[in-house]
Amino acid sequence: MSMGPGECEAVVFATSDLHAHVWRGQTRTMGMAGAATHIGEARSSIAASLWVDNGDTLTGSRLGAHLSGRAERHPLLPALEALGLDVGVPGNHDFDHGADLLNRRVDALRTACYVCCNVVDAAGSTLFAPSAVLERGGVRFGVIGAVTGHLQRLTRYSSVAGVRVLDPVDTVTSEAIRLRDLVDVLVLSYHGGLEADPESGRPWEYDTGENQGQRLMASVSGLDGVILGHQHRTAAGVAAGASGPVAYVQPGYGGERVGTLRFGLRDGRVVHREGRLSSPEVCATATPSRQRAMSRLTTAWERSEKWADQPSAVDGEQMHRLLQKRMSVSASVLYLPSRVLSWRDLERAFPGPLGTQVYQMPGEELIAVLREAGAVASSGGVVTDGIGPECWSVSIRGVDVAVPPAHVEFVANVPLDWALPQGRVQRAEPHDWLDDIASTFGRFLDADSG
Ligand SMILES: [Zn+2]
Repeated sequence: MSMGPGECEAVVFATSDLHAHVWRGQTRTMGMAGAATHIGEARSSIAASLWVDNGDTLTGSRLGAHLSGRAERHPLLPALEALGLDVGVPGNHDFDHGADLLNRRVDALRTACYVCCNVVDAAGSTLFAPSAVLERGGVRFGVIGAVTGHLQRLTRYSSVAGVRVLDPVDTVTSEAIRLRDLVDVLVLSYHGGLEADPESGRPWEYDTGENQGQRLMASVSGLDGVILGHQHRTAAGVAAGASGPVAYVQPGYGGERVGTLRFGLRDGRVVHREGRLSSPEVCATATPSRQRAMSRLTTAWERSEKWADQPSAVDGEQMHRLLQKRMSVSASVLYLPSRVLSWRDLERAFPGPLGTQVYQMPGEELIAVLREAGAVASSGGVVTDGIGPECWSVSIRGVDVAVPPAHVEFVANVPLDWALPQGRVQRAEPHDWLDDIASTFGRFLDADSG
């Protein structure tokens, strides 16, 4: 972008759905570490810039599960802050352990702030500031935060019982009206996705209200840029917008991309905007303070790797109870790889994003399937609860007879997919089982964040 007289550049860097990945895969690129170094390097030559994280930051990886029981000493947000994070917006998964715990984690921040305009308590006050105004390099940025209106449907009742979620379109509209004249650049960071092509308006999915990014851009006046997330998709460009062009970015999953909203200002007004994505690399030439912050992340990651190999002390019996409760069924079939389960074994037994599926099938058919599966996997592994002759016996003229029920509903873990008829799957929901198991039964390493 070339600058004329009276012109300047302002840039908002965006991450979303980092899901507690310090990096991804063997190459140690992407993730929080990759995104943070990429942004740090890019910002060093720009006077007016911000880094906004669009949520689903704290759970979704082995490290996230390891840290799930911790509040005040949770190291991820302070590390991101030390790496330069300016503004955070909570995603639906950041409420997985309750709004109170999230609030305590956010309270540990010193310079960065959390914003969200559409989650309120029983009295109607927002849990976080609805927006923030920050001045960088002489440019006043306004950042409005919002989370998907489906937050409560996507989160366990007990975690969000005390909050109400307001319509994002209404709340963002009134916040944008309030802020527009106070700032030079106005950005919405919305932890939700795109229900339609932002440039043509053509629908991409059923308009359920879970993803309203296109509607927000098309109906909220005054926005210069929008950060999207939640769907783990990538998108970037410029949409028509309600009151003029709006740049948008949706940076995918786990730090695979960094979003860049770039604005050209003339006399304090945005006259040019673009939305782009780039692939981050971990950069070796970091400043000492950035290296220190980075080592907090890598130390936390190394501790979670050690934790994963420890015996979990969680047994099959406990897993049956937890699964049946979470999936609201009274029977379960599990493939568990060994008797002494490490956290890593449990992670493998419940692979993301689904981990488990609920089946329904005729009792006779299930017995035949289990007989076959038991024969094939006799090295151990297939364990049942609430299923089998011991549960189905009835007394006929004083003689106990096993009578399978006409239909059985049960939950099974995904490694049993090969044995169970996939046509009998009734439902499956994405679930972070390792996080759930660790926070339900967890013993946590004394892992000081260092
Ligand atoms: Zn999400």
